[in-house]
Amino acid sequence: MNTVPLNDLTRLCIHTITTKPWSIEEAAKNFSASGVKGITVWRDALSGRNIKRTGEMLRQHNLSVVSLCRGGFFAWREPAKRQAAIDDNRRAVDEAFELGTNLIVLVCGADPAQSLEDSRKQIQEGISLVLPLAESAGIKLAIEPLHPMYADTRSAINTLTQANTMAEALNSPWTGVAVDVYHVWWDPDLENEIKRCGRNNNLFAFHVSDWKSPTLDLLNDRGLMGEGCIPLKMIRSFVEAAGFQGFIEVEIFSNEYWKLDQSEFLKKIISAFKTYV
Ligand code: ZN
Repeated sequence: MNTVPLNDLTRLCIHTITTKPWSIEEAAKNFSASGVKGITVWRDALSGRNIKRTGEMLRQHNLSVVSLCRGGFFAWREPAKRQAAIDDNRRAVDEAFELGTNLIVLVCGADPAQSLEDSRKQIQEGISLVLPLAESAGIKLAIEPLHPMYADTRSAINTLTQANTMAEALNSPWTGVAVDVYHVWWDPDLENEIKRCGRNNNLFAFHVSDWKSPTLDLLNDRGLMGEGCIPLKMIRSFVEAAGFQGFIEVEIFSNEYWKLDQSEFLKKIISAFKTYV
């Protein structure tokens, strides 16, 4: 008999985008009723709402607001676009503060009109310009490395090594890294880089999903945990060995799962979390 204990739900967080067809109010009600304890809020879910009251609504459902997704997109060849990105990230800090979370996840950006090195310089500069406001608001900024298939337009930070190096260069307790298994599972340096992250107190967030084989859409075909080839339990053991004890966040963009009855999908998420993470 298998006597491995199943996960309880005390560390389960779900991103609003995972159940995109639901409004944030529906997500809060359903997550809470199912015993989920954390929610990460995508900014689009706040559209047209009073952000402070929305944060209160989430806490009334006994949900911890784990982070706001997402800031970033700092890299642009045109200076006016870089400035617009910095302004937008400062707005994101204000939104995170109003919402009552202490973390923003950064998808850092890339512009195919310039080199990845130039994009990385602009990313570091952009974060450094947002950092004073983030510090004063008590909001941490997590650099999320993205899989290299997104290096053209979404992020010039593609390995945990690059994210760690940048977080260390910024040298602030308010900057760190988000480890998302979908982006980094393939990396031969993963265990060492997760250790490095932990040593420097830079491991701010842990996102899970799975890599389907074949993957049919570069953006919106992420798998439910257990249906792909990511060694989830192993990567979880790395982040926990590095000292991470925060929420485990389910972040799935999926044209397939968004078509399902989201209540059925939520049941699948909880079952997959208990069994495969
Ligand atoms: Zn993520």
